[in-house]
Amino acid sequence: MRVAGGCDIVKMRFDAVVVGAGPAGAATAILLARAGWSVALVERQRFPRRKVCGECVAASNLPLLDTLGIGAEFSRLAGAELRRVALMRGSETIVAPLPAAEDNGRRYGRALGREHLDTLLARQAELEGATLFQPASLQSIEGEPGAFRLRVQLVGTDAAALELDASLVVAAHGSWEPLPSERAALRRARKPSDLFAFKANFRVAKIDADLLPVLSFDGGYGGMVVADDGLATLACCIREDRLERDREAVPGERAGNVVEAILRRECVGVAAALEGATREGAWLSTGPIRPGVRLGAGDGVFRVGNAAGEAHPIVGEGISMALQSAFVLASLIGSERAALINPVSAADEQSRLLRTYDARWRQRFARRLQIAAAFAHLAMRPWAARTAWPLVEAWPGLLTRGALWSGKTRCAEEAFRWTRAVA
Ligand SMILES: Cc1cc2nc3c(=O)[nH]c(=O)nc-3n(C[C@H](O)[C@H](O)[C@H](O)COP(=O)(O)OP(=O)(O)OC[C@H]3O[C@@H](n4cnc5c(N)ncnc54)[C@H](O)[C@@H]3O)c2cc1C
Repeated sequence: MRVAGGCDIVKMRFDAVVVGAGPAGAATAILLARAGWSVALVERQRFPRRKVCGECVAASNLPLLDTLGIGAEFSRLAGAELRRVALMRGSETIVAPLPAAEDNGRRYGRALGREHLDTLLARQAELEGATLFQPASLQSIEGEPGAFRLRVQLVGTDAAALELDASLVVAAHGSWEPLPSERAALRRARKPSDLFAFKANFRVAKIDADLLPVLSFDGGYGGMVVADDGLATLACCIREDRLERDREAVPGERAGNVVEAILRRECVGVAAALEGATREGAWLSTGPIRPGVRLGAGDGVFRVGNAAGEAHPIVGEGISMALQSAFVLASLIGSERAALINPVSAADEQSRLLRTYDARWRQRFARRLQIAAAFAHLAMRPWAARTAWPLVEAWPGLLTRGALWSGKTRCAEEAFRWTRAVA
């Protein structure tokens, strides 16, 4: 259909449209397509693309990657098993074992660059039968359960726009790139305590391949790891007021370089690891990061991954929650396609299952958010870090416990059962 301005609008219909092809969206698309749904997966960015992330995938998710069909490729590419955690602050480092997951043979997490992980998952979604629109950006969602209409702009062409009709919508667009309709409200809500996130990769960094260092500094926290191909990832979150203060001292300097200088200065372990290392690619940044639960918007849209809720990334559990929430959702709605897309029953059935899904999401993940928030505040606040440090020094096992509490070895029940059933 031709409209004013010369744009083409292509109209298509799907049972479900999934917005965002990060781990949450791609996993949802794979599972729904496998259950016989017609699925559109809409992704704004061209893959492969680097992304701000610590890139550690906790052990409990490795069986999920097998079930999703990318386990073998993940194993081939990912860095070494992460068996130890270190806490670094100032000139001090405390090391402790990471807890092993119960699943035999897949006991420790590993790291893989998001340029690989997300590409593998999105490609798998296509192989499973989902229609991938990429690069294509969702502009708006109208309608209600049973009769949604999504407006999607193909990126990089001034020609085509898509109008996708769908019975059900899954928002998996993360939390750092608000939909166009959310941007103004987010700008108004900016606070000095907002967190901004940064990540860079380094070649020949001196980090033991099995070590996962967690960094604590005034106004922020971060992590380092050796991922695929020996490439080290350094990622962190920093409060806006802390970053601005340091930027004022070096006018004109790029934010990433300022962050790197802070990390080198305030975590001697980082300076030691980066001595002689070379950065590969630019510093990436994103934000503000606003950890919290985002369910209950009342718009009839299902939410997975960061779009549903986000833990402070100090615990590195975001990919886990993204994948596991996809399994929680698919286990609930996958086999209910007929009722969920039927115009007569869709509205009632979707709102019933949306309530059940929201409740399950909270049961499975809300505690992880609380624990992550507690760790983040301990790590970022000077007085809290000073108080906690002697305790951790005396009992390094607290780090092992902390990893356990934050969910590193635990899988949401639905995902666990699903992977057992197909194993
Ligand atoms: C500093 C830092 C370190 C971290 N370290 C780790 C770690 O080590 N381990 C871990 O498990 N987690 C970590 N995380 C968290 C993890 O990165 C996220 O939780 C995870 O990426 C969430 O996955 P998702 O699929 O929900 O969203 P995302 O990965 O953000 O994917 C969302 C996708 O949606 C697309 N999108 C957005 N808007 C639109 C639109 N309008 N139209 C179409 N597509 C759109 C985006 O392009 C993106 O590809 C870290 C986070 C930060 C900030």
